[in-house]
Amino acid sequence: MTTISSHIAVMAFPFNSHPSALLNLVRRLAASAPTVMFSFLSTAKSNHAIFSGQQYDNIRPYDVSDGLPEGYAFAGNVHEPVEAFMKATPGNFKAGMQEAEAEAGVKVGCLLTDAFLAFGCEMAEAMGVPWIAFWTSCPCALSVHIHTDPIRSTVGDIDTADKAEQTLKFIPGMSKIQICDLPEGIVDHLEMPIAHALHIMGLKLPEATAVVLNSYEEIDLTIITDLKTKLKKVLSVGPSALTFSSPSKADESGCLPWLDKHKAASVAYISFGTTLVPPPSELAALAEAIEASGIPYLWSLPDYSRRHLPQGFVERTSTRGMIVSWAPQLQVLAHTSVGILITHSGWNSILESISYAVPMICRPYFADNMLNSRMVQDVWEIGVRLEDGILTKSGTLKAIQLLLSDHKGKELRENIRLLQASAVKAVGSDGSSAKNFETLEEIIGSCS
Ligand code: UDP
Repeated sequence: MTTISSHIAVMAFPFNSHPSALLNLVRRLAASAPTVMFSFLSTAKSNHAIFSGQQYDNIRPYDVSDGLPEGYAFAGNVHEPVEAFMKATPGNFKAGMQEAEAEAGVKVGCLLTDAFLAFGCEMAEAMGVPWIAFWTSCPCALSVHIHTDPIRSTVGDIDTADKAEQTLKFIPGMSKIQICDLPEGIVDHLEMPIAHALHIMGLKLPEATAVVLNSYEEIDLTIITDLKTKLKKVLSVGPSALTFSSPSKADESGCLPWLDKHKAASVAYISFGTTLVPPPSELAALAEAIEASGIPYLWSLPDYSRRHLPQGFVERTSTRGMIVSWAPQLQVLAHTSVGILITHSGWNSILESISYAVPMICRPYFADNMLNSRMVQDVWEIGVRLEDGILTKSGTLKAIQLLLSDHKGKELRENIRLLQASAVKAVGSDGSSAKNFETLEEIIGSCS
């Protein structure tokens, strides 16, 4: 890169799929603005995982402190690293930004942060530069955080069982969402530090120059229209799976040649995202259901969890099953042999499944998972949640049979094809996402 026209500081929330989703957006922006320097600030661990040796002309990774004490050993409490990191902000990012400015020789003219990092609002204000916030989940989860105070005052405390099933019909586009679908920290567990941070985020986002989403307008028109009345600019620029080729990790395990050997739409692909592993009893129940169904399967499962599979399962299903520690998910879902996704309902997985028209069986666990799976089952009707709420042998088997069936399964497949078609249209020339991306390019282009 010869001359830097402007310098954008990108700040990642270094957990789960957040940093890779942000890097996908930045790669797309960097390709369209080759003279703009993007300094990508995240923790060393996260940068190592997502850059994995890849180099870009105008994206430079910078490591910031993770806030953990020297020699920290993870002992199973998932909140610990998140809380330590949040405590280290914004000082760790300020230090990283100074290093990036010194190296680039150009002052930062814009902050592009994960929306979770709401301190971006004050930081950008103090620097006199725009703040662009990237929301990595679905529009309905954003709506929940924007409406946290009205939700709290309308539903009060939710000690009684019937309240859990009350819907959010007082929020546009959210009439199918129940109180029990809400992420922790909206009406309960308010004491959690992350809940407090997300509450603040909901109050700060209306001040952002733009809020960018990996979604597309037509999928949630009512929710997006409402968000546009609350936020300065709402730019849905996805689905990223259809807008830019992501450098998926290589197909080291040979998933794609293995899929080539199977019939169209015959394989169940099982994945629970980047970090989550179901409890051992559910892993065993899922394996039993897969075995009883006779369906071919491709399972992305960390090595350390395989001991929880029933004895002999791998051997008995070896002719029709493949277990890998990581799958190139985009190419897997795009493969014609894949007919079902069994998922924890992370937003990226859901949107990728929509992008390639693969109906879903949802077993939500945490954060936005319950909201996403409610939308999948009751709003878009492109998949089902498990009848018992968890992975049991009978419930999972029933869901697999239903998705493969000529009646309900066919209906779900047709619905998801329609949604896929609207996603393809959104990213096509003159589509809503394409136009929103142009607006984002203009904002980026005007930062100097
Ligand atoms: N993913 C992948 N291979 C795997 C498992 C996951 O490529 O074996 C990717 C998947 O394509 C998606 C992301 O990891 O982009 C998971 O994101 P999601 O929002 O679904 O879940 P999270 O990890 O944030 O809980």
